[in-house]
Amino acid sequence: MNPFLTPSILIALFCSVFLIDTVVDFLNLEASKKPLPASLKDVQTEEMKLRASNYLEKRVYLGATRSVFLLVSFLVLLGRGFFRSLQNFSEHCSDKPMLQAIIFTLSLVLLNQIAQIPFSAYSTFVIEEEFGFNRTTPKIFISDLMKSLFVGLLLGGTLFSFIVSILMHYGANAGWIIWLGYTAFQFFLVWIAPVTLLPLFLKLSPITEGPLKTAIESYAKKQSFSLDGAWICDASKRSAKSNAFFTGFGRFRRLVLFDTLIEKHPESEIIAIVAHEAGHFKLGHIWKHSLATTLASLVVFLAIQKLVEADSLYSAFLVRPGNVGIGLILALMVLSKLSFFLSPIGAYFSRRNEYAADQFSVETTGDAASMVSGLKRLVTDNLGVLQNHPLHVILHASHPPLVDRIKPLV
Ligand SMILES: [Zn+2]
Repeated sequence: MNPFLTPSILIALFCSVFLIDTVVDFLNLEASKKPLPASLKDVQTEEMKLRASNYLEKRVYLGATRSVFLLVSFLVLLGRGFFRSLQNFSEHCSDKPMLQAIIFTLSLVLLNQIAQIPFSAYSTFVIEEEFGFNRTTPKIFISDLMKSLFVGLLLGGTLFSFIVSILMHYGANAGWIIWLGYTAFQFFLVWIAPVTLLPLFLKLSPITEGPLKTAIESYAKKQSFSLDGAWICDASKRSAKSNAFFTGFGRFRRLVLFDTLIEKHPESEIIAIVAHEAGHFKLGHIWKHSLATTLASLVVFLAIQKLVEADSLYSAFLVRPGNVGIGLILALMVLSKLSFFLSPIGAYFSRRNEYAADQFSVETTGDAASMVSGLKRLVTDNLGVLQNHPLHVILHASHPPLVDRIKPLV
């Protein structure tokens, strides 16, 4: 099968993703404003509910503005032959295909990054600030931006040159070879991230001696769950929102609790949340998820290999075919839009796992009440809305809406 693209198909793809995404976001906003059913009346007062949907409203409008801006920019750039000019520029700079591809891709990546900055700054310093979540200073904001750009360029650049050189030299088998290399790279990242990448952004310190530490350790021991201790991270430097997660594997596995979680939740709720996270491991969600994403990445690389070989990919963006490195970034732009239509599959399995992990927590702690009150507190403290539109749940929700989530627990 020869993938076939034209500028019109490309435009239709970008516009349809934009339309569906935006309409569903606004439907979800409307759903959040509906009167609460009796079962949720104790979670949010009328005033809190209004505040949560105001918070959602600001984010939906910001998201829609950003999407309009990015879509219009894309259409204007495409229509004005920008991609062709960029290709000419890269050929002017070097006669080596690899360098041309790097110049072409780096320009697009940097343009996109710069375009995102005002939206992300507005989100942090205006919206999050207004609702009392923001604790990021302009200094931390800029240093985070620089650090992630640096890490992104280093890792992304390495991966990009690897993929391009395989595409250039291995033709028909390229997809499989890239997949093997990429999978090895992923495992390496997962292995080194807790000690290299995470400390760049968060400061971890071992949890202090006390009843919480004892309770976490005795829970882990009872479940024979290997753990390299519980750690607290200074998430409060950036945001007042709370969370907890595990990082690393086997005996190097660390439990990371946001300091904000410890501030706000009683010990029994923290144990229920830790047990939920442990459930994701014990029930095999982590390895099943890794396996699924590894298989999905194979499909992506085989699709990339097919796409970069097709002249129609290049003509859709109005550039000359021939440089598979330039084809790679164009193929990724197409695939990222196509993946939107597959996102319900991942979201469905993620929601199913959340129910199972909640169940695991209740079974192993014997404390359903704390799981329920912990979930309620997480949603209200993070100003989540309690009612979502079904289409929004299908498309985006990695976690089930609160009302569905607590139903099996009470
Ligand atoms: Zn979970």
